[in-house]
Amino acid sequence: MNILAIGCHPDDLEIACFGTLGLYKKQGHNVFTCHVANGNLGHKEIKPDELRTLRRKETLAAAELIGAESFTIDVGDCTVESDDQDVVKKLIEVIRYANPDLIITHDPADYMRDHIETSRLTFTASFSATVTNIITRSPEIEKIVPIFYMDTLAGIGFMPTEYVDITETIELKLKALSCHKSQIEWMREHDKIDFPDFVRTCSKFRGLQSSVPYAEAFRQAQVWPRITTKRLLP
Ligand SMILES: [Zn+2]
Repeated sequence: MNILAIGCHPDDLEIACFGTLGLYKKQGHNVFTCHVANGNLGHKEIKPDELRTLRRKETLAAAELIGAESFTIDVGDCTVESDDQDVVKKLIEVIRYANPDLIITHDPADYMRDHIETSRLTFTASFSATVTNIITRSPEIEKIVPIFYMDTLAGIGFMPTEYVDITETIELKLKALSCHKSQIEWMREHDKIDFPDFVRTCSKFRGLQSSVPYAEAFRQAQVWPRITTKRLLP
């Protein structure tokens, strides 16, 4: 299968679904990742242009660890708009290129606006990617792809319907997270949290709920024709 995960900021996929992506890759599937925002505002000292470049490097290092091909839509932080047609078109091209069997993205009720807009963008672009008369470099894809929403930050307000046992890939997930050095500093200063501990704790909590050491949680978008009869998650 082809798996496409679309996160907002450069480190969001590492937080919520990198254990699952690592498993997919181990099972021989093709994994594509994409971040919509470039992360240019996520630091107290590093200036936006420099940070944008640095965060792309951090993202590529993390993607390499799980053997994923990584894309960016390169929108500035705090300016992600799901109605921006240029951005929609760029995302359509990524979706068409990856030709996914399923897409993972943010829950529409996640904790900040850029995440919510990314969820909406993904929903819109994955429909539009099937429309022949919208022209991009890659041709249209054949069907409207199932979407799985990944856990919200700290799991708040999110009721999972499916869990993935990531015990085998938890250390890989944390290693990928540690590629985002700028964010470990930012989260310590801006949010007063130990970022790797935060992510391990969330995975352990979802594991507790599903009777395994570590898990990631998802729920599938329940709209026609995105519903499936067979399990697509590992
Ligand atoms: Zn984020």
